[in-house]
Amino acid sequence: MNPMQDSQLSITAVMHYAERLFGDQEIVSVTHDIPRHRYTYRDAFQRVRRLANALEKLGNGPGDVLGTLAWNDYRHFELYYAISCSGMICHTINPRLFPEQIEYIINHAADRWLFVDPDFIPLLESLQSRLPAVKGYVVLTDAAHMPETTLRNVICYETLVGAESDRFVWPELAETTPSALCYTSGTTGNPKGVLYTHRSTILQCYATSTPNAFAVSASDTVMPLVPMFHANGWSLVYSCPMNGAKLVLAGGKAGDGEIVAELIASETVTFTAGVPTVLGALLRHTRENEITLESLERVGVGGAACPAAIYDEFKSRHGARVQQGWGMTELNPIASYNAATPQQTAGLSAEEAKTRALKQGRLLFGIDLKVVDDNNQELPWDGRSAGSIKVRGPWVIQQYFRHEQSTTDDDGWFDTGDIGTMDQCGYLQITDRSKDVIKSGGEWISSIELENLAMSHLDVLEAAVIGLSHPTWTERPLLLVVLNDDSTLTSGQLLAWFEGKVAKWWIPSDCVIVESLPHTATGKLSKKDLRDAFRGYTWG
Ligand code: ADP
Repeated sequence: MNPMQDSQLSITAVMHYAERLFGDQEIVSVTHDIPRHRYTYRDAFQRVRRLANALEKLGNGPGDVLGTLAWNDYRHFELYYAISCSGMICHTINPRLFPEQIEYIINHAADRWLFVDPDFIPLLESLQSRLPAVKGYVVLTDAAHMPETTLRNVICYETLVGAESDRFVWPELAETTPSALCYTSGTTGNPKGVLYTHRSTILQCYATSTPNAFAVSASDTVMPLVPMFHANGWSLVYSCPMNGAKLVLAGGKAGDGEIVAELIASETVTFTAGVPTVLGALLRHTRENEITLESLERVGVGGAACPAAIYDEFKSRHGARVQQGWGMTELNPIASYNAATPQQTAGLSAEEAKTRALKQGRLLFGIDLKVVDDNNQELPWDGRSAGSIKVRGPWVIQQYFRHEQSTTDDDGWFDTGDIGTMDQCGYLQITDRSKDVIKSGGEWISSIELENLAMSHLDVLEAAVIGLSHPTWTERPLLLVVLNDDSTLTSGQLLAWFEGKVAKWWIPSDCVIVESLPHTATGKLSKKDLRDAFRGYTWG
């Protein structure tokens, strides 16, 4: 017999725990119909039970997939818990994907009902005739704000929830029960679904809650700027209740620097997290309006490499520490995090310490990682040897949803598709995605490092480096930049900026100043679009 109890890990336990121990803690939301909604975890989980009754009445049962097209707010929070804790699967759909991808995803997942923010009704109206498995649509609003729509079988969320009892007996779930489904945007081919389990989610939350990671506690007010449809909002919607933190959800306004700055100030947000583009919008607003975000202590950055300028400005203007994390949808989603520890700076010059602080961080306990060369031979952790990053662990994907093949090799390693190095202290640095890697004269050039260098020039707003074919060197880097409005910088001057900062052969062969750069549905630079646009570029 197992000498210790083997209680199953479940999201249901997070709900019970937060309700009993942190019942008075608040969730504050911006929604399309309520500018500032505010209630407690106790209120939230009472409504979650009403919603669970409603989901059953709609004919749903264990294993059914229910989709959401929704911003970060309290109703989406309720859906996360009611669906997963009922043994159903909460499928969060990224509304910024192309309509054809959204159609593919809804059909592939076989979503039975869709829970929809009014903003996304027009999109679904145009798709509904091609969504055979969808039984109906629940609009996330109250009766007074129900929009006119041609969607068939439409229900108002508040009417649905309001009609139900707040008593519900939650099922006992095995910890391997699937809880949520997220599709990766997939730059080639169809999007692929990653099916999280209660177990993988809880273990990820334990790991990200530690002092070496998000370190969220009941003294924190947390505003995830990362959308709840982007890899489960980096699990903050679970780890905040688990730790009793106050949650602030910015609705569809995460990219609006003015509203975000106002929320941080009025709700005394201590920790926020998002992709660099969204944080850049916040910084721009605070810079232009000379605002200091007094309460902000830590800023988690991930999804793409954090430019030094973001690190510097949060520190100098707001006194906040930028901490970079690395992960991907397939990793539930976080695997490493760069919290300030003595090792981050020990024995290093200020410049070296900053270089380390800007790395993607140290592995969370639970994740095993190796760096391998093209022959799958493990490379040393010396901070120089770059290779493919492979991982394994209890929150690493084993199989894509409804795919036959395993995603791992015989020893359980999953190839992340990222290229990077590990240093002696276990700090990971991502130098590229394998599909973005630039191979010039047989040697790798890191596009991320060149982009960071370009963005360390004060005149540069955004930069992308892509590899394009070259008659002599197979490939050479091309730099594309968006400059600040008042800048008169020339391409030649910007290329000169690289001299002495990187090896000569790393310096981009050309630089093009552009009006804007394309982004993916998760707010990252779309290098695929850039490569398509510049294919056949004539080197000067
Ligand atoms: P998508 O593929 O749809 O963008 P993901 O969010 O799963 O969705 O993307 C994961 C990828 O984002 C990683 O494989 C890596 O290339 C990149 N990434 C994530 N965090 C970082 C980071 N801190 N620095 C550099 N790249 C990152």
